[in-house]
Amino acid sequence: MIKMKDLPYPMDALEPYYNKETLSIHYNILYKGYVDNTNKVQEKLFLARENHNFESIKCLEKDLSFYGSGVILHELFFENMGPPIPTSPSQKLIEFINRDFNSYEKFKEQFTESSKTVEASGWNLLVWVNNFKKLEILQCEKHQNLTLWGCKPLLVLDMWEHSYFLQYKTQRPEYISSFWNIVNWNVVNKRFDNINL
Ligand code: MN
Repeated sequence: MIKMKDLPYPMDALEPYYNKETLSIHYNILYKGYVDNTNKVQEKLFLARENHNFESIKCLEKDLSFYGSGVILHELFFENMGPPIPTSPSQKLIEFINRDFNSYEKFKEQFTESSKTVEASGWNLLVWVNNFKKLEILQCEKHQNLTLWGCKPLLVLDMWEHSYFLQYKTQRPEYISSFWNIVNWNVVNKRFDNINL
């Protein structure tokens, strides 16, 4: 059984950039749904193994990827936000951002533009690609598929409509520009510290 992770801040902590109602629905309904469904799939897989009945195995493995990735990406997303108190990339992370994107401003522009063009439901991510030893920005439109195997997500932005529609309606760019006010770089820095460069 997996459990919902607590939010590391109160439900209204991201106001006004991400309001309480939007976060509450996102966390208590959408995220909870992914957790509940992951547990249901794991239960069904347990029964399949017990009964030697793998009739639905294809569907179950797909559901496991879909719901399980939904849990993981939401946890990364919720955790890499925080109250609108400015934080910044660590010295080490900034060096790699400058190396791989030329400057912080260019990184921010690419991340913003990439977020805007995520089709329909999906995610935008800053990741570490271990095989290339390099930072990259990736769009993940079907989160049951990894966009680059072995990449480590560092900064995650939820671009599914449920993530912003209540507060921002069709104003996706405003949602993205608000996001920059509530990024918690302290968390991103810690994720980056845990990587063997
Ligand atoms: Mn979401």
